[in-house]
Amino acid sequence: MFAAEYDFDVLVIGAGHAGTEAAAAAARLGAKTALLTTNLDTVGQMSCNPAIGGVAKGHIVREVDALGGLMGIAIDRTGIQFRMLNRRKGPAMHSPRAQADKKAYQIEIKRLIEEQPNLWLRQEVVEDLVTETVDGRPQITGVKVKGDALYRARCVVLTTGTFLQAIMHTGEAKTQGGRAGEGTTAGISGALHRLGFQLERFKTGTPPRLNGRTIDYSQTERQPGDDDPQPFSFLTDAITTPQLPCWITHTNAQVHDLIRANLDRAPMYSGQIDSTGPRYCPSIEDKIVRFAERDSHQLFLEPEGFNTQEVYVNGVSTSLPRDVQDQMFRLIPGLQNAQIMRYGYAVEYDYCPPQQLRPHLESKLVDGLFLAGQINGTTGYEEAAGQGLLAGANAALTAAGREPLILGREDAYMGVLIDDLVTSGTDEPYRMFTSRAEYRLTLRQDNADRRLTKIANDAGLVDPARWQRFETKLAEIDQGTQWLKAGRIEGQPAAKFLCRPETTWQQIEEAVPQLRELSAEAAQQVEFDTRYAGYVNRQQTEIARMNRLSEKKIPADFDYKNIRSLRTEAFQKFEKVQPITIAQARRISGITPADIALLLAHLESQG
Ligand code: FAD
Repeated sequence: MFAAEYDFDVLVIGAGHAGTEAAAAAARLGAKTALLTTNLDTVGQMSCNPAIGGVAKGHIVREVDALGGLMGIAIDRTGIQFRMLNRRKGPAMHSPRAQADKKAYQIEIKRLIEEQPNLWLRQEVVEDLVTETVDGRPQITGVKVKGDALYRARCVVLTTGTFLQAIMHTGEAKTQGGRAGEGTTAGISGALHRLGFQLERFKTGTPPRLNGRTIDYSQTERQPGDDDPQPFSFLTDAITTPQLPCWITHTNAQVHDLIRANLDRAPMYSGQIDSTGPRYCPSIEDKIVRFAERDSHQLFLEPEGFNTQEVYVNGVSTSLPRDVQDQMFRLIPGLQNAQIMRYGYAVEYDYCPPQQLRPHLESKLVDGLFLAGQINGTTGYEEAAGQGLLAGANAALTAAGREPLILGREDAYMGVLIDDLVTSGTDEPYRMFTSRAEYRLTLRQDNADRRLTKIANDAGLVDPARWQRFETKLAEIDQGTQWLKAGRIEGQPAAKFLCRPETTWQQIEEAVPQLRELSAEAAQQVEFDTRYAGYVNRQQTEIARMNRLSEKKIPADFDYKNIRSLRTEAFQKFEKVQPITIAQARRISGITPADIALLLAHLESQG
């Protein structure tokens, strides 16, 4: 008997980036959902950098939005600087990124959760998972929370981030906790062990935050946002909030000498931490060791919001002792007199190797138990949000006895992410890159709604207003395509003329003036559909060829050193795993389609 008992269809544990999307998605599907989290004031909290999006991550945010999620709407309302990265490259590489007003973002996510029908947000600390044996298999039935209460549900989604058995490190000092100022969660790790799950350790880190009043910006370089800020959400008409600049400064040889002299006090190098950190988000001490030949690294000074002087120093994630962090800034242009408001630290935590999950993110061991976010070995808010949305949706679908929603690698970056995780797992904190996707030309950020909103609507994840807006856009694209097909320039079909690289859309509009009636979004789709049709078709042919070649054998004595221009990471991983077929090589975590193409070309050249 418990002091209190509650019944739900779906429980989501943890209201970070995965948990909030999971709970909202489950509730949108009509499941009676509870979102239980340790502290209501940290719902949607950004543990690290105050930014959403970036290369490939921005694609995921657009996909989350196309599926009816929260992240895009929240950042559009609270962003302080918007930039479309890689604008000079082709549209497949365009990636939106925005600095957030950190506190405003967190409050906006909480507000969206509070406004969601079918959803109960509660401050609770979950201490244990409750299961029963049904038809010989373990089945989740609920969770126990601190204060002697039981929550029962058909499905539970665990999204506890970096909080499982977490230890924070700053130099020699160690504290229990998953994020500065917060505690850790041992009960859930214990429950997962008891249920037979394998758990491993990863680590991640965060840089110091400075008081902007004490920074001399005249010694730094100004980095403004875009003149025409592009929204993340397909529901946002325009970004109208004023934009704040970021600032750029650099480390130098003196800083590097200081860090080198203190490496024995860095937990990563003193042996105090032996778990793996994110290769692509290295600490400053890592960078100095790994890129010893460089005597300078860029640092981005990113404001944390409109109503605070706090500045995030992107590029100096560190767990060096406090006195070294203090001395380091004395040596950096513009930061000589800067006051540290929060010291950098690293955190080590348990994660659950994700091969223990099915493709819809339900665990193989316990029916009804879903896992999403950093607990699955990923890093990043966007990766967490994408998994959260699908785990929450699938928990609700499973609770209702419906078929799960699974996105393929050809549908979405979210499909690539989950397929990579459940098929290959990850030996370091996993973050998304465009190079992980083989269907890059079709998985663009601009067409995420055309790839996913119908799938989401069929599942019941999309509200009528979004669906109507989407249908209107499709009709516009259709109309625009007809106009373009009928138009002629210099006696040639306008569509053919558009395929010349030097042709601008303005020239097309001059020749086919009806096209000016289209919204900018619809016009862009008409343009890209026509301009890139040839590339997309070629890609499909290449994919078919790759699939045929998957069973090709790799000789046991194959020497990877002979493949010129193979990335170091790929070389190391091929050497370690020694795959026997191309199919096996493709499944190695971190191996990209480009690596496989190089390997194949080399094998083919050898006959
Ligand atoms: P979180 O956002 O951590 O949310 C977990 C939630 O679960 C929290 O709200 C917590 O209160 C709640 N919770 C935990 N235990 C319980 C319990 N027992 N009962 C109820 N609720 C519970 N990502 C990057 O991309 N780059 C970086 O450089 C980077 N650095 C980081 C540095 C630090 C110090 C930390 C902590 C994280 C860093 N991250 C970084 C990771 C990023 O913050 C996470 O990937 C992202 O927040 C994961 O989202 P999540 O929803 O899985 O977990």
